[in-house]
Amino acid sequence: MTTSPTPAAQARQCPVCRASITAATTGRPARYCGTPCRQAAHRARRRAAEAARAVDWTRQRLAADLDRIRQLTDKLAAAGTAALESAALNEDSVDGQALPGIATGWETGLADLARHAARVLHGIESAAREHGRHVADYRHAARQGGLTDPESQS
Ligand SMILES: [Zn+2]
Repeated sequence: MTTSPTPAAQARQCPVCRASITAATTGRPARYCGTPCRQAAHRARRRAAEAARAVDWTRQRLAADLDRIRQLTDKLAAAGTAALESAALNEDSVDGQALPGIATGWETGLADLARHAARVLHGIESAAREHGRHVADYRHAARQGGLTDPESQS
């Protein structure tokens, strides 16, 4: 964030190198200071388009992973509850002393579900971080490409 005066009061600035642009006396006002910056801006706009696609792709991945984790946590909760309840129904006793239930066979299934959920959660973590990076790439390229006002974003 800068404390410069309102955009209307500023001299035009090249969005690539930030040099001030001398106002053209005829025709459309120049957007860039010269050919190298105009070409750099063209490349920056291509990078911005790529970053926008990456943002979109990451959001789709995130939506799919969130859907999977919802289903998995439902399954995990149901399997965990069933395992604990089956244990409670199988209480045994030795010489009148109650033993904890020994129902078994559910451990591997529950562990597999938990491992699967951990992988999906890891995917959500990386997608969230990647989203932030792609948005930053987009903003940077969009500024250099003159797609946004260079003073409007920091
Ligand atoms: Zn320039």
